[in-house]
Amino acid sequence: MCIFCRIAAHDIPSSIVYEDDHYLAFLDIAPVTKGHTLIIPKAHYDDFTMTPGTVIKDISEIARKLTKHYDAVLRPNGYNFISNAKEAAGQSVAHVHFHLIPRYDEMDGLILTFKGKEKDKLSEALKIDLKVK
Ligand code: AMP
Ligand code: ZN
Repeated sequence: MCIFCRIAAHDIPSSIVYEDDHYLAFLDIAPVTKGHTLIIPKAHYDDFTMTPGTVIKDISEIARKLTKHYDAVLRPNGYNFISNAKEAAGQSVAHVHFHLIPRYDEMDGLILTFKGKEKDKLSEALKIDLKVK
């Protein structure tokens, strides 16, 4: 059983902020900002690329619900909602989870930058190949 399956089964303690029959949201053990939360399905899927769309939809609804609540309690100025799939993307726990990260200012604990590079621009041919037909 993976560590998040064990958390979902209440085998390992966690700071739960939301729970229903199929989903759990709990505070990250190493928060990058105040209120850094993980939302998981209790069923095991390795990452979001392996997770049914209905499950991801439910998780995004829970995230929206939590933001309404956190707005009142923590008063952040914004949120990031992200999921890492596989090691190359920084995934360290192989049970799908979405990070809900309240944001306060640029000096908080999350550094997330999109630095566009010329070398990463696609050729016209590859742009055409990328289109889902
Ligand atoms: P990722 O690197 O995207 O796979 O995120 C995994 C997250 O799980 C990290 O932010 C960890 O701090 C968090 N984490 C690992 N173990 C626990 C735990 N027992 N309770 C709460 N959060 C955890
Ligand atoms: Zn699991």
